[in-house]
Parts: sequence; structure tokens; C-alpha cells
Amino acid sequence: MLHEPPNALRLITQAYTSLLIIGFALLPTQFIAYLYFQQDPALKFEDHLFHEFAIAVATLEGLFVTYVTWRCYRSSGEPLLRWLTLGFLAFVLIYTLHGAFTGMAHRNIWLFLLYGPASRLAMSILLFVGLLSYNRPSDGLEKRSDTRAWLMWIGLFLTMDLAVAMVAYSPYAGHPVVRLSMEGGALLFSALNVAVLLMRRIHSPLMLVFGVSVAWFALSSLAFILAAPWNHMWWLAHAIFAGGFFLLSYGVVQAFRTTQSFATIYSQEEMTARLAESMADTQKALQQVQLSNQRLERLAATDPLTGAGNRRHFIEHIGAEIARAKRTGAPLSLLSLDLDHFKGINDSRGHSVGDEVLRVFVRKCLEAIRPYDSVARVGGEEFMVLLPGATLDAACAVAERLRSAIERTAFDVGAEPSIGVTISVGVSEFGRDGNTLDGFLNVADQRLYRAKFEGRNRVVVA
Ligand code: GH3
Ligand code: MG
Ligand code: MG
Repeated sequence: MLHEPPNALRLITQAYTSLLIIGFALLPTQFIAYLYFQQDPALKFEDHLFHEFAIAVATLEGLFVTYVTWRCYRSSGEPLLRWLTLGFLAFVLIYTLHGAFTGMAHRNIWLFLLYGPASRLAMSILLFVGLLSYNRPSDGLEKRSDTRAWLMWIGLFLTMDLAVAMVAYSPYAGHPVVRLSMEGGALLFSALNVAVLLMRRIHSPLMLVFGVSVAWFALSSLAFILAAPWNHMWWLAHAIFAGGFFLLSYGVVQAFRTTQSFATIYSQEEMTARLAESMADTQKALQQVQLSNQRLERLAATDPLTGAGNRRHFIEHIGAEIARAKRTGAPLSLLSLDLDHFKGINDSRGHSVGDEVLRVFVRKCLEAIRPYDSVARVGGEEFMVLLPGATLDAACAVAERLRSAIERTAFDVGAEPSIGVTISVGVSEFGRDGNTLDGFLNVADQRLYRAKFEGRNRVVVA
């Protein structure tokens, strides 16, 4: 077990983590402040080709992210992902024209400029609506594949493109309110996103990524408001927005590679706790399986009526004892026993009395032998006793003791007078009476038959 870190350190590291995230979310403010206070806003870097190239890359990236988000939505049906897809799609369809009209910058600057804030406004509104739907139930399969709805949205975004163009050619195009209301709206909705996240205390890992991304979107809008076209603040604003976009795309790709959902991704802490929990469960289940395996093994090895070992298990056991005897040179002997005239007991007193006699007989056997000797029921009323370490003489003594004990035992079964039971026994010793398992068993059996033949209630050794 790992040492639990002390509580204070735990709290401090937790607070430090939160501070790092807040610091990272606000990082762009430092760049903005630097340019705002330290640089001449009249300094410009007007490179059309570079701008076109950057927007082309952004468009491709946007298309890719839109597609991956859409795939996640198709899989999980999470409403947030539907709105994210729409947000990215709106951004791509509107922002592309900002790049496409770079060359128009000197003929109609507004046609070139206004697509930027328009795309950010549309995206931030859609992300905001998405955030409000966080943790709502998943969309049904039918809604997920409703092509008409997607086409309608695309139609709406293209209409916005047209509307922006109309505004750009209208007399109001240059009025500061037009650009500022769009950029300010984007700033407002991005800030609202952050506020709602904080208020609803949403901090699942991917929503954290979402939160930092929208904070960067808000700050990029702030930078755009402070910027003039082509100056350094303007380029920085692009870069901040791109940073936010990259981060959010990281979240989307992580979602795609895991649960395809933004809500059901666990934090590392949660994951570790869950893992520990399920490992403990597995351990417990394993122990249960082991226990029931042991029980099954015991059941498979014993005779249900008497509790003695069964034939299959006994043969295995003899095999092991033979191997040991060969290895160590220790003697090994076997008794083959059969109850005399058992059929008569069944016939006169009934089968269940016969059963009880068998049970009592096994108890008596176990009393007469040592703990490492074993008794098995190998037939109806036929038994075997294995005696490791016993020579033929010693085994004969055990057999004789058992025979006379059974003879003297009054089998009090049921209400009727007690039953007299006798047994016949054949004895063999491994090596002396056979060097194989079969030989060893056969000799004991043959001697048992001889005991029967010679009048029963006796032990035959040779
Ligand atoms: P012998 O002295 O020659 O061994 O005579 P026996 O009657 O004991 O031998 P036999 O082989 O003729 O009969 C064995 C009887 O054991 C027949 C069968 O009904 C009975 N038996 C076998 N299994 C069981 C059992 O599980 N319960 C009971 N009650 N009787 C059983
Ligand atoms: Mg018998
Ligand atoms: Mg028999």
C-alpha cells in the first residue's frame, strides 16, 4: 500500500493545480498587455499570402475537427457534441471567407474584416447553447442522423455569409458599432461560457479543456477589439484564437479516442479510484472462484453416500503413492474389502437400512486407520484402504483389527434389532505382489475372492 499524503499537502497540491489552470487560461492577457503597453499600434505586418495560408490551414483544421466532433456525436448522441459540431461548422463556413477575401482588403476592407468577428460570434453562441445542454439526455438515433436538420443549419450559415457581405457593402459597414458589436458579442458569449462553467462547477477533464479554450476565445476577441488590421495585436489575436482552437480540438480528439463523449470522461483521480475498486472486486471474485473450485474438487472426489473417496480419485491417489514409494523405497499396502451377504441386509431390512450400514461401516474404517491412510468406495459394497508405509504384515494387522471391529459392532440402524455385519479382506503389498498399479490391485482383489471362497469374515494375505 502507498502512503496516503498528509491532508494539508493534498489540499495544497489541489489548490496549486487549480491555480495553474487559471493561470494557463489567463496566459494570453500577458501578451496582450505587453503589446498594448509596450508597442506602437501603428506597426504593421501586412502579408496577404501569409494570411491566406494561415486561414487555409485554419479551415482544414476546422473541417477535421468538425468531422471528428460529428463522429463523436453520432456515437454518443450527446447534445453538447451536436452544438460543438455546429459551432465548428459555422466557424469554418464563415471564417473561410475571411481568408478568401484577403485580396479584397484594399478594395473593401469590411468585406475582408467582418467575416472574422462574425465567425467568432456564431461559434461562441453555439458553444454557449451547447454548454447549457451539458449533461442533458442523449439524442435518439433518429435525431442523430437527421440530414435535413444539418442542411438547414448549413443553409443558415451560408445566409449569414451573405448577410455579412450585404453589411460590408452597406453605408454602415465602417461604423465602429458593426464590428464592435460582433466582436463584443463573441467576447460576451465566450465569457458567459466560462461563467456558466464556474457557476455549475463543471470540472470533468474535457470540460476543463473546454473552459480554458473558451477563455482563450474571449481573450482573442478582446485582442481583436484592441487591434487595428495588420498590426501586431491583430496577429496576436489570431494566434490566441488558434491556441484556443487547438486546445479544444485536443479535447475533441481525446473524446473520440475514449468514450466519444465530453461528459463521461473521468479524471485521473477518479480513474485510479475506480481501478482500485474493480481490482478489489476482481480479487474477491477470484477468491470465491477458488473456494467453489475447492468445493467442486471435493465433491468430484468423494462418494456422496458415505463421504469416502470415490474410485476415480482413489486410482489417482494410488498412482501418486506408488510414485512416492518407488522414489523413497517405503512400503505401500492395500486392503480390498467387501461386505458379506450384503444383499441379504437389503432384502430383509430395506435399501435405506443398507445405505446406513454402508455409512456406519465407513465411519468404523476411518476410526481403525491412521490419518494418512485413505478409504475409498470402489463399488456398491466394495471398498479399498490404502496404507502408505505399511508392509504386508502391518497391513494384515490393520485388516484383522478392522475385520474383528466390524464383527463386534452392533449396527443399530432403525428401530429393529441390530444387524451383524462381517467383511472379507484381501491384502497386497506393492512391489512384493506386483510392480504395476493394475497388478497391485488385482492381487488384493484375488485374495478378497479367496476370502469369500474360503467362507467369508476373514483376511487373506497370501
Ligand atoms: P458376498 O458376500 O458374496 O459379497 O454377497 P453380497 O450379497 O454382499 O454380494 P452381491 O454382489 O451379490 O450383492 C451386493 C449387493 O449390494 C447388491 C446391491 O443391491 C447392494 N448394493 C450395491 N450398492 C448399494 C447401495 O448403494 N446401497 C445399498 N443399500 N445397497 C447396495
Ligand atoms: Mg458383498
Ligand atoms: Mg460385492
